[in-house]
Amino acid sequence: TTNDAKKSETPRDTLIGGLLTADFHEGSCLSRYQKTSLYRKPSPYKPSEYLISKLRSYEMLHRRCGPDTKAYKDATESLNRDENYASKENGECRYIVWVAGYGLGNRILTLASVFLYALLTERIILVDNRKDVSDLLCEPFPGTSWLLPLDFKLMQYPYVYGYNKEYPRCYGTMVNNHSINSSSIPAHLYLHILHDSRESDKMFFCQKDQDLINKVPWLIVQANVYFVPSLWFNPTFQTELTKLFPQKESVFHHLARYLFHPTNQVWDMVTTYYNDHLSKADERLGIQIRVFGDPAGYFKHVMNQIVACTQREKLLPELDTQEESKVNISKTPKLKAVLVTSLFPEYSENLTKMYWKQPSSTGEIVEVYQPSGERVQQTDTKIHDQKALAEMYLLSSTDNIVTSARSTFGYVSYSLGGLKPWLLYQPTNFTTPDPPCLRSTSMEPCFLTPPSHGCEADWRTNSGKILPFVRHCEDIMYGGLKLH
Ligand code: GDP
Repeated sequence: TTNDAKKSETPRDTLIGGLLTADFHEGSCLSRYQKTSLYRKPSPYKPSEYLISKLRSYEMLHRRCGPDTKAYKDATESLNRDENYASKENGECRYIVWVAGYGLGNRILTLASVFLYALLTERIILVDNRKDVSDLLCEPFPGTSWLLPLDFKLMQYPYVYGYNKEYPRCYGTMVNNHSINSSSIPAHLYLHILHDSRESDKMFFCQKDQDLINKVPWLIVQANVYFVPSLWFNPTFQTELTKLFPQKESVFHHLARYLFHPTNQVWDMVTTYYNDHLSKADERLGIQIRVFGDPAGYFKHVMNQIVACTQREKLLPELDTQEESKVNISKTPKLKAVLVTSLFPEYSENLTKMYWKQPSSTGEIVEVYQPSGERVQQTDTKIHDQKALAEMYLLSSTDNIVTSARSTFGYVSYSLGGLKPWLLYQPTNFTTPDPPCLRSTSMEPCFLTPPSHGCEADWRTNSGKILPFVRHCEDIMYGGLKLH
């Protein structure tokens, strides 16, 4: 079938219905062109023509304003003057700098969020490259770079250590101190969009706030949450977002397929593993197990939860405990490959033992694989992060996926793959939750720590009740917002 798929693939398919530009050389980043072959079925979600044209205009703008242009040089020089931008003409090139922090799942979700905000506000996204972004991802925009030059002033000491709520140009802090208004607009602002943000930080996207923020040439943003759902609360953004994404739950799916292309080194890990272990199976199941809390590790109640969920939801067959198997094994049995990813190898080891000692009740053959079990999170270690990224892509290539609640690693994997996941509830008191999991109705990531209310007119309304398609997440107890 792979050959048939290849034959019918027109160049437009390789570019995901025009989502990707044709202005790149293939060899520099193989994943950009080969990615579609990882997905046996084409995505049921098609990018809108409007999104495609918006991306092409963005690429042109980025080329005009990117590093190595006169516009960029002028803009960085204007930072030194630190003028008041209240009455200055808005330059064509305004920027938003993404600061790297937290785990890879967090980084990928926030890169997508910041890029969408840049698209909506016609800013240029520049990416902090002091860590290992360029070992993981190819350049997404042709003829330019999204990497922030290392000598960028606001990333030098003392700024590097200074980006927190106490930073004097932190937007939420300035709002609280009434030190920003239409007659006093600074040359740069810091947006703090983390789990510990205050409401004043979280409301940056509202119309009234945007009227000021729009005039600021440089934004520095540090984020660890997928803040896309809240952008819909701004009526101006909402009009635009509806045109860009007529299928609302496809936002991350499209943005991720446009923006993220693993480097050749990572792509080699993905394709080698896929060909060696997954390609021959009739069906693939992905299981991502993230254990939060201290100590993290292997737990019997989590193992029981995995078995309970997958068997109850008929993702894995039950074991055949009869002495003599009733199953007719004369026909060729179906081969099911299970891809487990976790920091801990014991989960897949136990699953392997289960299915290897006993036949399954359906006669299916179940093979279990786990590419790595690193035990400890080692963010910013190149090879560790590369393995993590490779596993996200491998998970995204499966037919069905089970992920741990609240994990951004899981969010990226299922949304990339266009899969509605089964979410394993987070256990409390070291017991297996009952029910163990639920099927999500949307493939969008959850915004874990959203604002509690809406913008101006919706100030008193619970943020999960403002729009019918922005609702509380199924996998966390309190708050959380997700597009449906
Ligand atoms: P989250 O903490 O689950 O929201 O996900 P993040 O990706 O932000 O941070 C967890 C980090 O731990 C990952 O980026 C990896 O570095 C590591 N990690 C966690 N689970 C896995 C896994 O299943 N496979 C691999 N290779 N690394 C993992």
